[in-house]
Amino acid sequence: MRLQEKTALITGASSGIGKETALLFAKEGARVVAVDINDEAGNQLVELIRSQGGKAIYAHADISQSEDCRGMIHVAEKTFGGLDILFNNAGIMHSEDTDAVKTSEEVWESTLSINLKGVFLGCKFGIPALRRAGGGSIINTASFVALLGAATPQVAYTASKGGVLALTRELAVVHARENIRVNALCPGPLKTEMLMKFLNTEEKKQRRLVHIPTGRFGEASEMAKAALFLASDDSSYVTGTEFTVDGGITAAYVTPE
Ligand code: NAD
Repeated sequence: MRLQEKTALITGASSGIGKETALLFAKEGARVVAVDINDEAGNQLVELIRSQGGKAIYAHADISQSEDCRGMIHVAEKTFGGLDILFNNAGIMHSEDTDAVKTSEEVWESTLSINLKGVFLGCKFGIPALRRAGGGSIINTASFVALLGAATPQVAYTASKGGVLALTRELAVVHARENIRVNALCPGPLKTEMLMKFLNTEEKKQRRLVHIPTGRFGEASEMAKAALFLASDDSSYVTGTEFTVDGGITAAYVTPE
């Protein structure tokens, strides 16, 4: 087991990448603090982990709120005696996020406050806990859109994910000598609720698939495996990276027919 005796806090754990990661981390021996605003799904996940013999607790926190983030870290330390792994993964994609002209300030602000400020707040309160544990691993979920421009714009989302990459890089440098590693995970387009509710016709799906060399969307479980690598000591010399798991999108100029 690769996360034996480790405590991992995962935001956005009620669905998609966060849920798959919580299940995998628990199977690898971690004590999991599952954080979300969807309490019903979060509590169901915790029940599932416990029924499989794992250790988990659910904590409600809106990651855009300072006190909620302070509280979730407190839950981890109080329940499990410390924090070793912080997966700042929760994020939103707003349906009215388009180009700079059409996107409202409200959409911009709500997207940035969850996707970017939420990661900052997770680190603000999480880093002191990792220090108290003698070090640890932070993983921040960005996206391939932080690396490539798209002709179907979502300016607030894209800018928020670019911010996550820059924040990750700087934190990695600042905290390297404290035995705290900080990496970003850049998923490609996934078959999760978040994206599929936008790509709700075959035509919209095909417009994206043509850019993916592997010819398919990724699975949340494939992101969980990448997160496991970044969380575990297998990646002990990996920090400050943009860990891209995208089916080859960012490598491709033209994809095979
Ligand atoms: P998802 O919608 O399945 O899960 C996101 C979870 O975050 C949900 O459970 C939701 O309740 C929670 N959440 C939303 N706002 C929150 C808040 N303010 N506080 C706490 N929790 C909140 O999405 P997913 O696909 O698993 O996405 C996870 C991360 O991966 C996000 O940061 C997303 O931007 C990123 N990502 C997703 C894709 C994709 O194609 N799905 C691609 C690249 C990056």
